[in-house]
Amino acid sequence: MKFYITTPIYYVNDTPHIGHAYTTIAADVIARFKRMFGYNVFFLTGTDEHGKKIEKAAQEKGMSPKELADITHQRFKELWKVLNISYDKFIRTTDPEHEQAVREFWQKIKGSIYKSKYKGWYCIPCETFVSQTQAEDNCPTCGRKLEFLEEDSYFLSVSKYKEEVRKYLEQDIVKPDFRKNEVINAIDDLQDISISRPRSRVMWGIPVPGDENFVIYVWFDALINYISAVGYPNKMEFWPADIHIVGKDIIKFHAIIWPIMLMAAGIELPKKIFAHGWWKVKGQKMSKSLKNVVDPFELAKVFGEDTIRFFLLREIPFGNDGDFSEELIIRRYESDLAKDTGNLFLRISKLAQNNFPGGVRRIQAPKFQDINIEALLDDWIAKMNDLDFFNALNILFQIISYANKYADIKAPWKLLRAGNNEEAEKVIYDLAYLIKIIIFMLLPFCPTISKTVAERFGIKIQNAKGENEMKKMILENYEIFKISSTGVLFPKIEG
Ligand SMILES: [Zn+2]
Repeated sequence: MKFYITTPIYYVNDTPHIGHAYTTIAADVIARFKRMFGYNVFFLTGTDEHGKKIEKAAQEKGMSPKELADITHQRFKELWKVLNISYDKFIRTTDPEHEQAVREFWQKIKGSIYKSKYKGWYCIPCETFVSQTQAEDNCPTCGRKLEFLEEDSYFLSVSKYKEEVRKYLEQDIVKPDFRKNEVINAIDDLQDISISRPRSRVMWGIPVPGDENFVIYVWFDALINYISAVGYPNKMEFWPADIHIVGKDIIKFHAIIWPIMLMAAGIELPKKIFAHGWWKVKGQKMSKSLKNVVDPFELAKVFGEDTIRFFLLREIPFGNDGDFSEELIIRRYESDLAKDTGNLFLRISKLAQNNFPGGVRRIQAPKFQDINIEALLDDWIAKMNDLDFFNALNILFQIISYANKYADIKAPWKLLRAGNNEEAEKVIYDLAYLIKIIIFMLLPFCPTISKTVAERFGIKIQNAKGENEMKKMILENYEIFKISSTGVLFPKIEG
């Protein structure tokens, strides 16, 4: 039972923003979920460190590109620490093992590479060629002026794999479903792509084996991280990837070019490629020039990492675009977390601690009307496996809202005041049982809070050996819950 999940490697020159956090949190939630269910998970993230932009930035600072990358890649590692990201490996494309793997890969697919002349429009900052039709104005990515180039280049012969890649994509590889046709339609326009840059223009890259006048194009180099990280060219225990998570802007590179590279090398293809949407601010894409970039370090400082993780996956379906605002986070924090979830944990734990200090016993097995916990759990597992975080969290909140209603209607505090301790103990046991289920389902999203609550309720959390064992663990009727107060878990946000 192996499970291999990846994020894209992030460009080391970028400042980590909420978009990077979004992709990586989603991958982390799935990694944690799979580990719970007994999978041997390999969760990969890292940084993309070659290319002209880094060369230029380093020059301006008077350092070597490697020295700059050694400093700036740390910001990503710091953010993953702050956001509680449980990656298994952080790869850097300047790692010697990766560079060696890229050279070996190039040699392996030599039969699909040829040297020819490139003529066309080029954006130097983006290091990309722009097709004739798009070149009328400026660069479609960065908006800067394009230059006309004519130069020698190495090309990957893409055309000969068109039918094979179409067949591959016609299986359900690309998710969400609505992206599938968009990607398949793009195959028709596909031309052989340039996979080298002349050293006279780009110094900072892996030299083309056997031709020191060229370096390997940064995208080609970067995509290979998914296999170099798991051992290529040696035996790869975790390959093929079970899921590549990417932003929608790079889906074509991942769903067309990357599989073609693998086909050329005779390597198995990834099983799923999931493209998520973008967080915008007031309807606009975040950009440095608009000064509307959301800083995840700041957010985590104010709201705590569990809230950020929760909000990004609760607010919009994974795959769609969303509009980001602090007001929305505050609303989710106050209603979903502080009120519905935090208060439930607090009032039940206090009641138990004050009235049943020796523990809340199972007098009878819990039975609930109007809700089928086991069916909801099965549905939750299915949604999680589909990366449908939005509906997985909706299921969780059905149970949370049921538990709140159950507490209100059965009012164990009234039973206690009336001296009906046994009846009160039954109700509190039922609620502790529901809280146990809630905690297991909240755990991949909000690991810190979940662990605290689990401790206070005496809930035993460990990874299972498979789905059945995990379900048993979640649904188990403990003989007794030894409960101490959780305290306030979601304090009021100041200011
Ligand atoms: Zn550009």
